[in-house]
Amino acid sequence: MAKIGLIRCEKNEKRCPLTGCLQSMKNTTQAFARYADAELVGVFTCRCPGEGVVELSKILKSKGAEVIHWCTCTFARQENGKWVAGGGFCDSVDTILNRISQEAEITCVKGTAHLPEGYQPKVFE
Ligand code: SF4
Repeated sequence: MAKIGLIRCEKNEKRCPLTGCLQSMKNTTQAFARYADAELVGVFTCRCPGEGVVELSKILKSKGAEVIHWCTCTFARQENGKWVAGGGFCDSVDTILNRISQEAEITCVKGTAHLPEGYQPKVFE
């Protein structure tokens, strides 16, 4: 059972209750297809410019998270009903995930639900 921590972006926190992310996690599809089973340990919200995310990640790790997933809306956007890469809420996703993986010493995965076509979730470890 993979124990997952989820971090979402503050720019989407009042519009999205994470329904797609949680469904994909439950069904181990999309970015969660790499696990046989997955369990949610907890959720945090990143706030610009992302200064506190290493601490948030350490807390998730202390609660049992083995991996942190970063929501797809941070690096992809919806266009004509389809999710496409680029134009997400955050320009710094790779930098942030690299920092978390190094400083909190936990694997990070870029993506959750509704992945853009052909996108393979990038793993930072
Ligand atoms: S740093 Fe990126 S992910 Fe974090 S709140 Fe700002 S835009 Fe969103």
